[in-house]
Amino acid sequence: AVRVRFPPSPTGNLHVGNVRSALFNWAFARHYGGKLVLRIEDTDVARNQEGSLEGLISALRWLGLDWDEGPEVDGPYGPYVQTERFDVYAGVVGQLLTGGYAYKCFCTREEIEERHKAAGRSGPAGYDGFCRDLAADDVAAKEAAGTPAVIRVRVPDQPIDFIDLVRGPVHFEAANVPDYVIVRADGSPLYTLTNPTDDALMGITHVLRGEDLLSSTPRQIVLYEAFAQLGVGSGRIPRFGHLPTVLGEGNRRLSKRDKGSGLAEYQQAGYLPAGLLNYLALLGWAIADDRDIFTMDEMVQAFDIRRVNANPARFDPKKCLAINAEHIRLLNEAELTTRMTPYLVDAGVVADPPTSDQVEILTRATPLVQERMNTLSESVPLLDFLFADDNRIEISEDAGLKPDSLPVLDAAARAIAELDPFSHDQIEAALRAALIDGLGLKPRNAFGPVRAAITGKRISPPLFESMELLGKTSSLNRISRARA
Ligand code: GLU
Repeated sequence: AVRVRFPPSPTGNLHVGNVRSALFNWAFARHYGGKLVLRIEDTDVARNQEGSLEGLISALRWLGLDWDEGPEVDGPYGPYVQTERFDVYAGVVGQLLTGGYAYKCFCTREEIEERHKAAGRSGPAGYDGFCRDLAADDVAAKEAAGTPAVIRVRVPDQPIDFIDLVRGPVHFEAANVPDYVIVRADGSPLYTLTNPTDDALMGITHVLRGEDLLSSTPRQIVLYEAFAQLGVGSGRIPRFGHLPTVLGEGNRRLSKRDKGSGLAEYQQAGYLPAGLLNYLALLGWAIADDRDIFTMDEMVQAFDIRRVNANPARFDPKKCLAINAEHIRLLNEAELTTRMTPYLVDAGVVADPPTSDQVEILTRATPLVQERMNTLSESVPLLDFLFADDNRIEISEDAGLKPDSLPVLDAAARAIAELDPFSHDQIEAALRAALIDGLGLKPRNAFGPVRAAITGKRISPPLFESMELLGKTSSLNRISRARA
């Protein structure tokens, strides 16, 4: 059975590149009816950030990317938080040392660099294997003297090949895979150990992760081969698939510093999880050549890791926004009302919780704005006028109210004063008769001043429907206030 994992480090806000990895693992697991494991890689304690684990979990919940094992749900391979697994790593390190797959290294960085220079090599100094075959006495003497030691993996002197699910055959020369450190001098285990150890012990079958981690894969394969000999985990090496790099501005890898790279921004702006995930899916995958918009159910149905494109994918905030807008159009009205309400509450436009009158207005206003919103937070500037005090409507400069608008407003007020019922088609007919037929105005000059008076803005939901929603008294109040 398929078992995949999403192993974030709680070092700050979730990045959209990480979310893309989480999404692809989730879709892969769901497609095959497998399991997704959420594992918290927090062993680099200095980099952990307070509150970041909670933020991570609530962000995944918000997105709807559920996991089968991990924090909050548990499972048979726990604990799923690496700082709770130090005894596990200590045991594995012991086995690696005893089996000769790893060794203590007493070299300092300076010594390694000196030897590198003395040997006439250029470039950054990789490890030269100096401590690989230290005699047992030497090791004992160094230990007796209290010389600090890291632990390194003994990388066999042969090339490493594997078939990447995204990129096809990948080849690493032995010379490019140094004996790397898995335990620091203070005894704490590194990502290089904890990540493959847990993948082995947790029975992970497929490792799908960003291309930036491609160079750690041959190292991990070396450890897997040792694990197979030592009986750590199932003994099977997982399949690897490296997802394309996500590029930001200027063709550089999208980084934490780039605007639009943090998940929190999208949550605050009122993206729909379905819209954001749809866009992130397009960073490397397509449901069909001629189709951009799809639901997560459709993605799960169709997802195929072998059809992920290896080429870097550009993160385009405009396209992300446009895709989100499409998903807003796809919601049914009741759901859109429910989803935009918290944004209106937060902005203080409606009460918390909204009164029943406010709920009714929001319900009736929803179809008027559904086609005009790209994000849920855009409901605030579109709808705030409906809930404002008639005497507090601020008419914006660009709404275009001019001294010569006065006769237009007068005529509009007269035209609607006696309307009953006060319905949008009646309002439209009355205003057309008075302003276009009566005053001979072009529609823009006729309705612009009325829109300014009613909404305070140049751009608003449809005018006649808005007036109907406000009611006659409010509409007349606003027109008379605008003329004053
Ligand atoms: N904790 C690692 C990271 O967030 C996991 C990398 C991996 O998927 O192996 O970069």
